[in-house]
Amino acid sequence: MRRIWNFSAGPAALPEEVLRQAQEEMLDWHGAGCGVMEMSHRGKDFTSIIEQAEADLRELMGIPAGYKVLFLQGGATQQFAQIPMNLLAGRSADYIVTGSWSKKALKEAQRIGNVRCAATTESSGFTRLPNPEEIKLDPFAAYLHICTNETIHGVEIPSERVADTGVPLVLDMSSHILSRPVPVEKFGLIYAGAQKNIGPAGLTLVIVRDELLGMAPLTIPSVMDYAVMAESGSMLNTPPTYGIYIAGLVFQWLKRQGGLEGIAAVNAEKARILYECIDKASGFYRNPVDPDCRSRMNVPFTLGNAGLDAAFLAESKAAGLVSLKGHSSVGGMRASIYNAVPLEGVQVLVDFMNDFAKRNG
Ligand SMILES: *Cc1c(COP(=O)(O)O)cnc(C)c1O
Repeated sequence: MRRIWNFSAGPAALPEEVLRQAQEEMLDWHGAGCGVMEMSHRGKDFTSIIEQAEADLRELMGIPAGYKVLFLQGGATQQFAQIPMNLLAGRSADYIVTGSWSKKALKEAQRIGNVRCAATTESSGFTRLPNPEEIKLDPFAAYLHICTNETIHGVEIPSERVADTGVPLVLDMSSHILSRPVPVEKFGLIYAGAQKNIGPAGLTLVIVRDELLGMAPLTIPSVMDYAVMAESGSMLNTPPTYGIYIAGLVFQWLKRQGGLEGIAAVNAEKARILYECIDKASGFYRNPVDPDCRSRMNVPFTLGNAGLDAAFLAESKAAGLVSLKGHSSVGGMRASIYNAVPLEGVQVLVDFMNDFAKRNG
């Protein structure tokens, strides 16, 4: 067996320890005589799995009482619609657009109701954050939506830097949740598709303040109503049981890494050595994002000579460094260095990039 260094943007690398434990428990979970995929979601075994997963997530993120944790399906894209369905209540909402994902969130919400773009950095190619004077907020908005890590453009707003605006803040944290501590109590709702930094695709996490529950009109489907899902412990219908189980193993793995403080220190070092490599070879490699808001999780970069792209991809792949091709909308390369990508993997990438630059510079 050979494991690659996996820089996929999502679905993405998972900790090897977690995969090995899942492998070991595949046929017989803790003496149950069957695996997690095969057991009733209403039985005591699965109940203990989902309860432990929620308790570990609450401990890791410091989620206060007064917030519900929902284990849903449909991906972050479903949340683009489900959020306005639940929270608009006939009012308007504001969106800050800092990349492709927040742009999509705004467009989808426009199908549901009255929402407005409060600021966009599209004319700057999504390489910076909007200046405070560019942001035109509606003080009566039902909520303000922000994507705190733009997976495609590599723009990150550390959540402690998100300012209170007097309306509930709704954050798409799909690609950097659990990568660093988050002041959850500042936010109304946090959501994330699991397949970037949590676990397998098919699970979507929503963390929502109690006061935001129960505002949805009775005309929306019950599976889309946060209050109904909260009331049923995410079990109105069958939840994505295997995804919840793997997410739970990832939460336990994170606790063994020293929690979010511990993993944040590793993530900071991974990002530091990769950006240093890109900046040092300036001209050969380039990252266009304002250093003030460069993502620690998704690092897009271009080669000064795009004619070398194919050779870069072929040679990196041969060296065991995989999924480095950039998103088609921005081109070039992208290294996604989520929690499960170890420092050693980023060091191997940096060594390859330095060598490639020397040979082709
Ligand atoms: C991947 C991603 C999405 C879309 O997630 P799906 O689960 O595929 O719907 C939304 N927002 C961000 C920031 C993402 O990275």
